[in-house]
Amino acid sequence: MHVYDRRLRWPVPDDLPVKVAGRIVDRIDRRSKYLLFRLGAGSLLVHLGMTGSLRLWSSPPPRRPHDHVDIVLDSGATLRYHDPRRFGAMLWAPEPADAHPLLRALGPEPFSRDFDADYLWRATRHRSAPIKLTLMDNRVVVGVGNIYANESLFRAGIRPTTAARRVSRVRLGRLVDAVRSTLADAIEKGGSTLRDYVDSDGKPGYFQLDYFAYGRAGLPCRVCGSAIRSIRQGGRATAYCPRCQP
Ligand SMILES: [Zn+2]
Repeated sequence: MHVYDRRLRWPVPDDLPVKVAGRIVDRIDRRSKYLLFRLGAGSLLVHLGMTGSLRLWSSPPPRRPHDHVDIVLDSGATLRYHDPRRFGAMLWAPEPADAHPLLRALGPEPFSRDFDADYLWRATRHRSAPIKLTLMDNRVVVGVGNIYANESLFRAGIRPTTAARRVSRVRLGRLVDAVRSTLADAIEKGGSTLRDYVDSDGKPGYFQLDYFAYGRAGLPCRVCGSAIRSIRQGGRATAYCPRCQP
């Protein structure tokens, strides 16, 4: 591992290249927005921040500005970390990685068995915050950002301003299904809202999910024709249909 600039969101530890050198990558997992390169005694914990990317090069071109880290594999390929804004992270997480301070308070993955109606019901009984903000809280469930929270609540027919603890178990069950179907559709359509998104081969991804609520303030609801309303919650835009989301 060659670290050319340590100044990411947290400084890349001085001893990280020594820790990873010579180890075998058993597998690569993802937890929330963190990538975990499993290296036996620990994991290389990577976060792409807002603008970071990892590209795998069979023979890397000369370094460009913002190429901060190279990991050279036995095959000769180079995994290169590029990050203009340097909000990403590259850290060491000893086993068990789930106990790392950045990971241990995270809620379940939305596609995991742990995320079901019973779980969400228990997790929300004491929460008076609006259900939309609760759904976007990483301690409750990870992976549900602003767009997906808006769309999931539309699909579940739940008003985003409803206090989380007032949403019934039946409706929370519908919300779990809606979160999964919304995310699954978005993944299938290519995933990202960022125009500069590229995958590890450098191919762009396009987000083409047809929104029901998000970004449609004032337009007729695709289901009932009522005007979509827009409010702000926690500094973010919330859009909902007053008739479909009572
Ligand atoms: Zn409607």
